[in-house]
Amino acid sequence: MEFQKSQRLNHLKYDIRGPVYEKAQELESQGYKVINLNIGNPAPFGFDAPDEIVHDIIMNIRNAQGYSDSRGLFAARKAVMHYTQTQGIPNVEINDIFIGNGVSELILLSMQALLDTGDEILVPSPDYPLWTTSIALSGGKPVHYICDEAADWNPDLDDLESKITPRTKGIVLINPNNPTGAVYEKDVVERIARLAEAHGLIIFSDEIYDRILYDGAVHYPIATMVEETLCVTFGGLSKNYRAAGFRGGWMIVSGAKHRAKSYLEGLLLLASLRLCANVPTQYAIQTALGGYQSIKDLVLPTGRLHKQMNLIYDRLVSIPGISCVKPKGALYLFPKIDLTAFDFKDDGDFVYDLLSEQKVLVVAGTGFNYIHNDHFRIVFLPTADELNQAMDRIENFLESRRLV
Ligand code: PLP
Repeated sequence: MEFQKSQRLNHLKYDIRGPVYEKAQELESQGYKVINLNIGNPAPFGFDAPDEIVHDIIMNIRNAQGYSDSRGLFAARKAVMHYTQTQGIPNVEINDIFIGNGVSELILLSMQALLDTGDEILVPSPDYPLWTTSIALSGGKPVHYICDEAADWNPDLDDLESKITPRTKGIVLINPNNPTGAVYEKDVVERIARLAEAHGLIIFSDEIYDRILYDGAVHYPIATMVEETLCVTFGGLSKNYRAAGFRGGWMIVSGAKHRAKSYLEGLLLLASLRLCANVPTQYAIQTALGGYQSIKDLVLPTGRLHKQMNLIYDRLVSIPGISCVKPKGALYLFPKIDLTAFDFKDDGDFVYDLLSEQKVLVVAGTGFNYIHNDHFRIVFLPTADELNQAMDRIENFLESRRLV
């Protein structure tokens, strides 16, 4: 008898590490050198975590042998609380902060603690796909609202509002955005806050890239703009601090907490069931959040991250048939392919054939629950040399498939 996976997993996917990724690994095991532009994992590409974070973990490893409080170490939560004060997020107390094994764990936990079968959550399209998956895995229904490429990928607020139903419980915002690189305008964030307030919805704001901003972009935390709305904000060490492997993230509950006693109990129950987040990493959170922020140097026009973003952007938009909105934040570009100009069917074919023929791995736009099948996501973390090599291969591939 075949052992079947749970039916709850049917239709769930995570294409960033999905079948095409497996194929890339197979190619590597056959001796091919694949250029991996699929994962936002800074450290392996020479974007090392700040020394003081690594130092903190090493120095505290002996103190970190036991479990911690389920919400997290007091000092780590105190540091996150202080961060909310510097950002202007009102009404956050120490027990409103939960430390997790990365934001990933907390996203799933926040949905599992809330959703009953059929409850709806509004999620951006495209999204970071863990959001859609976590909602579905928790018995809820992800309902996608459009982010508009023509408006620099800002959410289409009419579409968002039209999708609110009596079953809608919350709105997910990813700002700065993965995969589009959008950083939402102040007015847009304000209007989403007002919509949530008017319809009594919880806001889930994934702000893991809040310090990775280019060309003077400003990030507006939505939690500073709400009063009578419950807001859950997510942040962590993986991107701003290039420490993705340490698995450290936090979740901040703010706003209308007086209407969320039961939900907060649910969050604590689930946090307790998994005992605690890994403790060594928690020791680094205080250091990470305070003082000098080395990410700022990387995102300056002279910084390596910024220069590499420009490199990929300039090379992509110089290819006839490819267009792209320039990212204002995060680690990705989300270019559009004019499917009438090339001999492949859709984004999935493009990604698969590019990998097979040129050994470059990117992720199809539909892997981010994007409604159209003509985009892909590309990461700009490898060295400029490697990125140029990857772009040469992408150009060769596209030329070999050009129709007009
Ligand atoms: N949220 C977004 C928007 C992400 O892009 C990622 C990782 O790529 C995560 C959450 C997960 O981060 P973590 O490493 O903290 O689990």
